[in-house]
Amino acid sequence: MKQLVLASNNQGKIREFSSILASIGIEIIPQAKLNVPEIDEPYFTFVENALHKARHCSKITKLATLADDSGLCVNVLGGQPGVFSARFAGIPGNDLHNNIKLIKELEPYTDKSAFYYCVLVMVRSFEDPQPIIADGSLHGKIIDNAQGSGGFGYDPHFYLPKLGMTVAQLSIEAKNQISHRAQAIKNLLTKLAI
Ligand code: IMP
Repeated sequence: MKQLVLASNNQGKIREFSSILASIGIEIIPQAKLNVPEIDEPYFTFVENALHKARHCSKITKLATLADDSGLCVNVLGGQPGVFSARFAGIPGNDLHNNIKLIKELEPYTDKSAFYYCVLVMVRSFEDPQPIIADGSLHGKIIDNAQGSGGFGYDPHFYLPKLGMTVAQLSIEAKNQISHRAQAIKNLLTKLAI
């Protein structure tokens, strides 16, 4: 099985990446296993943050590294919380507090449409001049009442009209078929021609 270092400490993401990539024979090594410390996400775009994380991890491990940056973009909030999704309600990030803040901010609006966005950056080395970049998204809307116990983050409030349920009500397998991460991985693999 091929191995790829993942520059993330988010258990939800590690689970989802491992499950999706295992199906095509790639084993994910979370960066913590190689003693790579977490790094900040100082930029205002997903792609800059993902590249920053991938480079940092590859510099320490001297291995090819995959990093992602993802978040929830709400249309009436001008794309917020966006790159601030994990720390929307403050640092350290807390899913429950983030969701409470989101529902409150959306109270005045009838348009609750939103999308999850994921960008993946793979570098073969710290100084890779041609990082491979791929993205994906999942569209839905935010509902006031939490439903479901699967997933993580905003999933209990992220409703998929076509399926009639929230992302937190999907099995991990079903989420991995349609998620922004799954779409981004599919696009990445096309670029890698795997
Ligand atoms: P990152 O670690 O900076 O990429 O932060 C991603 C944050 O976006 C997470 O902590 C969640 O708040 C949110 N997010 C990203 N993907 C998902 C998802 O699949 N479900 C729910 N929330 C997500």
